[in-house]
Amino acid sequence: MNLIILGAPGAGKGTLSDLLIKELKIPKISTGDMLRKEVKENSPLGIRAKEIMATGALVSDEIINELLKNKIKQSECKNGFILDGFPRTINQAEELEKIMKELSFKLDLVINLVVSEELIIKRLTNRRVCRKCGANFNLFSAPSKEKDTCDLCAGVLYQRADDNETTIRNRLQVYMKDTQPLINYYGKKGLLRDLAAEKGISDMAEKFNKIMIENKNM
Ligand code: ADP
Ligand code: ZN
Repeated sequence: MNLIILGAPGAGKGTLSDLLIKELKIPKISTGDMLRKEVKENSPLGIRAKEIMATGALVSDEIINELLKNKIKQSECKNGFILDGFPRTINQAEELEKIMKELSFKLDLVINLVVSEELIIKRLTNRRVCRKCGANFNLFSAPSKEKDTCDLCAGVLYQRADDNETTIRNRLQVYMKDTQPLINYYGKKGLLRDLAAEKGISDMAEKFNKIMIENKNM
């Protein structure tokens, strides 16, 4: 099963894909997580990406396509994968198609998470992330049991540098300009399925399973 999870920042791409890792037993490829790892390690790529990410702009297609290509070729992806945060531009989608063709992979479905802008801002400004394991929490919808501490690994929770209101508004603009055209792109291919993602995690999981059942012959 090869899936793309599409949606604005804060729509729940990371949350849904973390759920699906367990359910479908395939890995997720999150370009955002990969970039944050490079930033943390202060690699040459991380140093370049850090400032771009802090403004809410996109890292260049050239860099991202290369990252994706290396990852997708690894053996852990041979039985399928969940793409979270990639593709984000038409150019990336075209590159993905090329790579998947080369590897004889088929794209099964594109799940489009639909959430209002108001809720997105509320979610992102309240998001907290574990420094150690990357787990996501939310001060208003999914708080950790102990303040600033990860429920899973007891790591310290922090606020992502790009989760401030100015950067969030910029990320939303970038999303509308560069990423939203993908909805039409995959719609035309007959691969797009909308999922209303305003409620909780279990509601999202339920809706996802329904989509799977409806498309089991694809
Ligand atoms: P979100 O979806 O909440 O904005 P991500 O973790 O997916 O968060 O991405 C964070 C930042 O990393 C983006 O704002 C962008 O700067 C960079 N990034 C992640 N994925 C891509 C991509 N596919 N293309 C370009 N930039 C990306
Ligand atoms: Zn943790």
